[in-house]
Amino acid sequence: MASKAALDLLVIGGGSGGLGCARRASQLGAKVAIVEHGRLGGTCVNVGCVPKKVMWYTAQHSEFLHDHADYGFTVSDWKFNWPTIKKSRDEYVKRLNGIYFNNLEKDNVEYISGHAQFTGPSEVKVGDRTLTAKHILIATGTKPMIPPNTPGSELGITSDGFFELEDLPKKTVVVGSGYIAVELAGILSTLGSDVTLVIRYNKVIRSFDAMLSDSLMEELKNSGVKIAHFSQVGSVSKTGEELTVSLVPHTDAGKAQDITNVSTLLWAVGRNANMVDLGFDKTGATLDRRGFIQVDDFQNTTVKNLYALGDIAGNKLLTPVAIAAGRKLAHRLFENKPNSKLDYSNIPTVVFSHPTIGTVGLSEAEAEKMYGKDKLKIYKSSFTSMYHAVTTRKTKTAMKLITLLPEEKVIGLHVIGLGCDEMLQGFGVAIKMGATKADFDSCVAIHPTSSEEFVTLR
Ligand code: FAD
Ligand code: NDP
Repeated sequence: MASKAALDLLVIGGGSGGLGCARRASQLGAKVAIVEHGRLGGTCVNVGCVPKKVMWYTAQHSEFLHDHADYGFTVSDWKFNWPTIKKSRDEYVKRLNGIYFNNLEKDNVEYISGHAQFTGPSEVKVGDRTLTAKHILIATGTKPMIPPNTPGSELGITSDGFFELEDLPKKTVVVGSGYIAVELAGILSTLGSDVTLVIRYNKVIRSFDAMLSDSLMEELKNSGVKIAHFSQVGSVSKTGEELTVSLVPHTDAGKAQDITNVSTLLWAVGRNANMVDLGFDKTGATLDRRGFIQVDDFQNTTVKNLYALGDIAGNKLLTPVAIAAGRKLAHRLFENKPNSKLDYSNIPTVVFSHPTIGTVGLSEAEAEKMYGKDKLKIYKSSFTSMYHAVTTRKTKTAMKLITLLPEEKVIGLHVIGLGCDEMLQGFGVAIKMGATKADFDSCVAIHPTSSEEFVTLR
C-alpha cells in the first residue's frame, strides 16, 4: 500500500536531535512525523549517556566504599552484584522509552516505527508507506566502529555491547583514547575488572587541554588501569571463552605483547555516520571528507529543504548539542525566525572519568595558536579536594583559566576533580556571556568547595 501524507516536517531518527526538532516543530504548529527503527531516545537514552551515567554512579559507590573506613564506618563483607544494577538500569531505560513515546503523543507528533529509506530527494519509504514532506530532517546519529582489517576484531564488543554485558568481565582490554574509552575503562576498573587500556600514542583525550590529559593519565594509573602506550591491536584470537589480544607497536616507542585470558575486548575507537540502508545517494546531498553529512551553519544540506543535525552532521557529538540544534531549526522553519541557528562555540562538556573532567572554550594549545602566547594570561591551581583530607585514597583536582589580554576575557576553563561535572554548567554560562577574570573575582566564593578556587585564582 502506498500512502502519501502532507507533512510539514518528516524527521528520520528518534534520538536526541530528531526528537528535539520534531517536538518543537509540532509545538509551533507544524504537522510532523518522526521515523525510528529502534528504540525511542536513540543512542543517549538506550546505549549512551543515560545507562553510562548509571554505571558511573555505580562505580562511584565502589570508590566511596573504599573511603568509608577512613570516615569511621565499618562496612564489612560488601559485595557487588552487576546483574542487580543492570536490571534496574534496563528498567529505567524502558521507562524512559515510554516517556518519550508519551511525549510524542502529547505533542501531537506522528510516530512511525520502521526503517526510513530515501527513494528520492524528498521522498522516503517506510515499510509500505511512501512519505513526502515540505522539509525533511536526517538525524540518524552514529554507530561505533570496529576496525575492519584487524584479524579477529569481531570477537570484541563496542559500547553497545558493554550495555548488554550480563556480568562484570574479570579481565578487560579497552582500545581507544577518547571519551568512551576512558569512561568505560574507568567504570570497569573501579568496579573490579582488571583493565588494560590500549592507546596509539602517549596519552588519552589528546585533543583536550594538556593539563586534563596529563592529569587523567595519572589518575588512570593510580586507580589501577594498566596502559599499553604507542600500541594497537594486531590480532585477536579465542580459546574456549577467553581471548588473546596481540598488540603491535603503533610507533617505534610501542612494544609487541600478548594479553591473555581476556574476558572482554572493548573497541572504543570512534564512531561513523549512521547511513545504513538510508538511500542517502538518492538525495543528491553531499558528505564531508570524514563521511558525515555536509551542512552549513543553519543545518542545511546541499539539497533544498533537506537538513541534517546531531551526530550525523559530525560537529560536537553531544546530546544537548543535537537537541539544541534541532530546536533552533524548528524555530527557523516554523516560527519565521530566519536567523535561528546553534552557536557551536564555547560548548561545555564533561568526561565522566574518575575523577570527572569539565572543559569549555579553548585549550591552551588552541589559544596560543589562535592568539599567540604573549596575548594570554593563564591561571592554574592544583590541590587535593577537602573530601580527601581524611582518606587514604586520594584524587587530584587541577584547574586552569585561560584569559585573553588586555581585558583578561576568559576563553578557556578546564578542570579535573571530584564534583567538577556539576560545577561546569554555571561557569559555561559565564563564559558564554563573555566574562573576564575580574568578573570571576567579583563573585564571592562559596566555602568550602572546590569551585571557589575559580574565583580566587592568583
Ligand atoms: P542518535 O541519538 O544516535 O539517534 C539517531 C536515531 O536514528 C537512532 O535512534 C537510530 O535508531 C535512528 N535511525 C538511524 N537510521 C534510521 C533509519 N534509516 N530509519 C529510522 N531510524 C533510524 N553525550 C553527552 O552529551 N553526554 C554524555 O554523557 C554522553 N555519553 C555517551 C556515552 C556513550 C557510550 C555514547 C555512545 C555516546 C554518548 N554521548 C554523550 C553522545 C550522545 O549519545 C550523542 O551525541 C547523541 O545521542 C546524538 O544524538 P542524535 O540524535 O544525533 O543521534
Ligand atoms: P572519540 O572520537 O572521542 O575518540 C576516539 C579515539 O580513539 C580517537 O580520537 C583516537 O585517538 C582513537 N583511535 C581511533 N582509531 C583508533 C584505532 N584504530 N585504534 C586505537 N585507537 C584509535 O570517540 P568515542 O567513540 O570515544 O566517542 C564518540 C563521541 O561521543 C565523542 O567524541 C563525544 O563527542 C561523544 N561522547 C560524549 C561523552 C560525554 O559527553 N561524556 C561520552 C561518550 C561519548 P588517538 O588519535 O589518540 O589514538
